[in-house]
Amino acid sequence: MDKYIFISGASRGIGRAIALKFASFGHNLIIVSSNSEKDLTDTMEEIKKFNVKCRAFTLSVADFNSLESMKETLHNEDIFVECVINNAGISYFGLLQDMSVEDWNNIININLSSIFNTSKLFINDMIKQKCGSIINISSVWGNIGASCEVAYSASKGGMNSFTKALAKELAPCGINVNAIACGAIDTSMNSRLDEDEKQALCDEIPAGRMGTSAEVAELVYSVFKSDKYLTGQIITMDGGWT
Ligand code: NAP
Repeated sequence: MDKYIFISGASRGIGRAIALKFASFGHNLIIVSSNSEKDLTDTMEEIKKFNVKCRAFTLSVADFNSLESMKETLHNEDIFVECVINNAGISYFGLLQDMSVEDWNNIININLSSIFNTSKLFINDMIKQKCGSIINISSVWGNIGASCEVAYSASKGGMNSFTKALAKELAPCGINVNAIACGAIDTSMNSRLDEDEKQALCDEIPAGRMGTSAEVAELVYSVFKSDKYLTGQIITMDGGWT
């Protein structure tokens, strides 16, 4: 049985950096994203340069049925997913009263229901193997909330509670569950900011700059390599911002 790492949202940004980090340490990967098929293929090509196996699927993590079909394909190939990294996410900026019901449901489904979907699909195999790891990519807004990002904050706050609760459920089975609450990371998620807004943001951060995807990837890999006794934690990485 080949061991794999599952990473959602690996076509760009933080997810792509995490994928390349794990590949550089010799891990086989299953990567997914929903729209940018070309970017996902590019990531897969980069991953394969490390002489590891990689499977790429274009699907939405909000859609349980698509994930289940993916899992069935993998099951036929005798693959064990030893670590699930729930990184796919979207943001929404605006006042809550102006937000449509569709936009609310969309962000909750992609950022929060998705982690139920992937956990439900993969934890039974982990329980059978008595090992495994789940790492959720969260946000400081899930810890403290942000004005004009109520839905996003709620989705990441839900992710944080999900992480703590599932960690308690799975610790007896040798599976650890943690989240990394990122501050401002320089990716396309922040592309709505112009240069002045970015500078104002950096002025608020004690480290004086935004974080990089590579720095998040480094921390994710450290959490993956840590002892299983590290579980149920929301690890904040924000340059001292919050
Ligand atoms: P990004 O550059 O926008 O990348 C998001 C990734 O998620 C893309 O690969 C995207 O691909 C994928 N994705 C979006 N919706 C999806 C869906 N329904 N199903 C599958 N994949 C989906 O954003 P990022 O900054 O790297 O963010 C990664 C994670 O870090 C997110 O969970 C985000 O909330 C979190 N985070 C980011 C920051 C930050 O400042 N950047 C701060 C805190 C937390 P497609 O568009 O092709 O689907």
